[in-house]
Amino acid sequence: KSSRRAGERSPQPTTIEVRGARVHNLKNIDVSVPLGRLVGIAGVSGSGKSSLALGVLYAEGSRRYLDALSTYTRRRIAQYERAKVDEVLHVPAALSLRQRQATPSVHSTFGTASELLNYLRIMFSRLASHECPNGHHVPPTMNVALGLPITCPVCAASFCAPGAEELAFNSTGACPTCGGTGVVHAVDKSSLVPDESLSIDQGAVASWRQLMWKLMIQIVRELGVRTDVPFCELTAKERDIVFHGPAEKRHILYQSPKTGEAVELDFTYFNAIYTVENALSKVTDEKGLKRIAKFLTDRTCPDCGGTRLSARARSPLIDHLSLADVTEFTLAELPGWIAWVPEISPDEISGIAESVVEEMREPIQRLMQLGLGYLTLDRASATLSTGELQRVQLARAVRNRTTGALYVLDEPSIGLHPTNIDGLLGVMGDLLEDGNSVVVVDHDIRVLREADHLIEMGPRSGAQGGTVIAQGTVEEVERTKDSRIAAFLSGERHVRVRERATSDAMFDEGTIHMETGPIHTVGPLSVDIPYGRLTTVSGVSGSGKTTLVLESLIPALRPLKAHAKLPAHVRRIEPGRVEQVNLIDADPIGVNVRSTVSTYSGVLDELRRAFAATPEAKARELGAGAFSYNTGSLRCPTCDGTGQISLDVQFLPDVDIPCPTCHGSRYAPEAYEITRAVPDGSESERIALPDLLECTVDEAMGYVGDVRKVAARLQILRDLGLGYLTLGEATPALSGGEAQRLKLASELKRDQSDTLFAFDEPTIGLHPLDVEVLLGVLQRLVDNGATVVVIEHDLDVIANSDYLIDMGPEGGQNGGRIVAAGTPEQVARVARSRTAPYIRVELA
Ligand code: ADP
Ligand code: ADP
Ligand code: ZN
Ligand code: ZN
Repeated sequence: KSSRRAGERSPQPTTIEVRGARVHNLKNIDVSVPLGRLVGIAGVSGSGKSSLALGVLYAEGSRRYLDALSTYTRRRIAQYERAKVDEVLHVPAALSLRQRQATPSVHSTFGTASELLNYLRIMFSRLASHECPNGHHVPPTMNVALGLPITCPVCAASFCAPGAEELAFNSTGACPTCGGTGVVHAVDKSSLVPDESLSIDQGAVASWRQLMWKLMIQIVRELGVRTDVPFCELTAKERDIVFHGPAEKRHILYQSPKTGEAVELDFTYFNAIYTVENALSKVTDEKGLKRIAKFLTDRTCPDCGGTRLSARARSPLIDHLSLADVTEFTLAELPGWIAWVPEISPDEISGIAESVVEEMREPIQRLMQLGLGYLTLDRASATLSTGELQRVQLARAVRNRTTGALYVLDEPSIGLHPTNIDGLLGVMGDLLEDGNSVVVVDHDIRVLREADHLIEMGPRSGAQGGTVIAQGTVEEVERTKDSRIAAFLSGERHVRVRERATSDAMFDEGTIHMETGPIHTVGPLSVDIPYGRLTTVSGVSGSGKTTLVLESLIPALRPLKAHAKLPAHVRRIEPGRVEQVNLIDADPIGVNVRSTVSTYSGVLDELRRAFAATPEAKARELGAGAFSYNTGSLRCPTCDGTGQISLDVQFLPDVDIPCPTCHGSRYAPEAYEITRAVPDGSESERIALPDLLECTVDEAMGYVGDVRKVAARLQILRDLGLGYLTLGEATPALSGGEAQRLKLASELKRDQSDTLFAFDEPTIGLHPLDVEVLLGVLQRLVDNGATVVVIEHDLDVIANSDYLIDMGPEGGQNGGRIVAAGTPEQVARVARSRTAPYIRVELA
């Protein structure tokens, strides 16, 4: 009977049903998400896309999955608390590929992350020839009995061929000198005394100062070094003691800086170099290493030549190449070589060779489709961009052949040139074909157009968003009156916001000229960046955009002030009027809750003064300082002005809850007693500072717009499209794009003709309407005389640029040159440019 029942299951659900979602700004929404389909989520930034995709769908999908695990395991992953939603029905186990990931481990390379190295290890453990300890050649056919002692036929000595494990640099195959990282750290002597005009007493020796060996100053004095004269005046002998002096014990009278008490101590002298070496030897984690990183230079490991592998792991050869040699190939070069392996293998093992090669084909193909063919397998993951890392993850997810899972992808198009979007769509198609569901948050119109079902969040950001304003097929959304993406989807509307410079006038104000030598796969370059213009650097992934802007131009301009050295590969830089360079990245602002929109933008400083000027504050003798929630006397005593307190629950990670006294306002009750009159309001209409911090920037304008300096700062935030943020919002919770624009708020000045601003893909996370705002901000910088350089794939930004530098033509070895430079129209006519066809369509 019961077996019958099992067969009579109700029809498979076809949608995930979300009921009453209230995560972040979501307005108690209900939404149906089709299963087994490609679902796109669109909306302006801050409208609630991530809150729905990650905060509801992924959070619930992963929580269900965790619920199935043992209680013990679940307890340990306590951050998966229930999302603020009434119910979510039929949600499958969810996986997410996010933009921001933890920094990859030092042992991760493109080869390990893509899992291709696993196959190569099998190949080398089974199919390679090598030498036995007596120096005799052992043919590959002897390796088949993997891991068994092999008796070398020539000399009858017994030994083991290296197994796959012994070929792994994150295991027993690691080079013993560098521990499988390929680099060794050495003390950078020039960093130890960065400023020779200081005396040792003033802290000239940075390693002593930073590594808390202040008492070394006393010891070095005992050793006969003058500590009260500028370091540059020390004799060679004195310097030698500082840097190389022997580890002698000295008896000193040590005065504790805290208590002032003097104690007698026997202490061993650590010279400036040994101080660092000693710290290095004690480092156990990345964090510790970071602390001393500035005293170190990384050198390629002399023993393994940077290959990370032990000599034994490098000994097996196929086609005269070791595993280390093969990982120097780019992904695109790999298929040609592996195809050759079965050909040259003896008959007995060519079957094995054939099957390993066969298994590698599909994953290689997939990664190529995603535009990663230019990466070498030995490339350290830490040097890959977020977009590249995310695509490696994506390819791996497809290969794992899950079925019935929900994939939540957060802007997979970042870092992708238009030519690679098809590959990305192909991979998402494969996930669907395997019976999975895919939800993708993206802004790329081409990605959105491919969706089977669209959900548009909006209408605006923050409190003015959080509802579904359109949903259905692309065509249905296009016909929805309230949709804000419809006109962009149908191609009716383009982002055109600025007047561009003509090619005749392009260089009227002059240029920054830079010449570089070859680096990575990027050839020697000679570039001119026009002053006071918006210049965009475009090109397929791996073509050299990052190398040109972030590794060459910016570091070449930075030393101007700091008197530091030029990067080794930069041969010449003529900065002219540019004296400052400012990279505006999308990294989160701050890690602690004390930084808010109001403090970061400087609005709070002005507000504090305004409130201190009220008669109520004067009567109580409260100065501007009293109104600081971080240090002022009006801050909430319970939470010390953080607005929250940490509960220390046994066996669980600390849980932060809103402060029970101030309910998150950060202020003591007295702060509410000091109020200001609202402009144009009746006399009874007054507002207190804590209440003001709960307002959005737009609202605050109505309450304190009469204070000129406050109004000026609020207006800048509005101009940057941040009018919807509340003043008290903690900055670490802001999205990358919001953080990027907020950083600009404190940078806007009237005359910026001496400044170069650089942006790396500023359109990440931006809806076309947000791109308009961004372009307005860039225009404002240009109006102030600034020179703006942007790395970007977004065609709206490209089409709105004055000057375009297109790198390529391809990525990697086939790229690294400037293919075209000029106005968008000029670049559009260059046949070799991979970007040109897309610009032509965009400008049409
Ligand atoms: P989108 O993905 O559309 O850019 P989000 O879902 O990230 O928008 O954000 C929607 C709103 O929720 C925004 O106002 C944002 O500031 C707010 N928000 C996002 N994350 C958090 C958080 N961790 N805590 C509080 N508010 C948040
Ligand atoms: P883009 O920014 O256009 O994607 P990049 O400037 O990042 O291109 O890369 C250009 C080339 O230099 C690529 O072949 C890339 O693999 C290589 N490359 C970039 N950074 C490194 C690095 N740290 N180590 C080795 N190769 C690198
Ligand atoms: Zn090594
Ligand atoms: Zn409090």
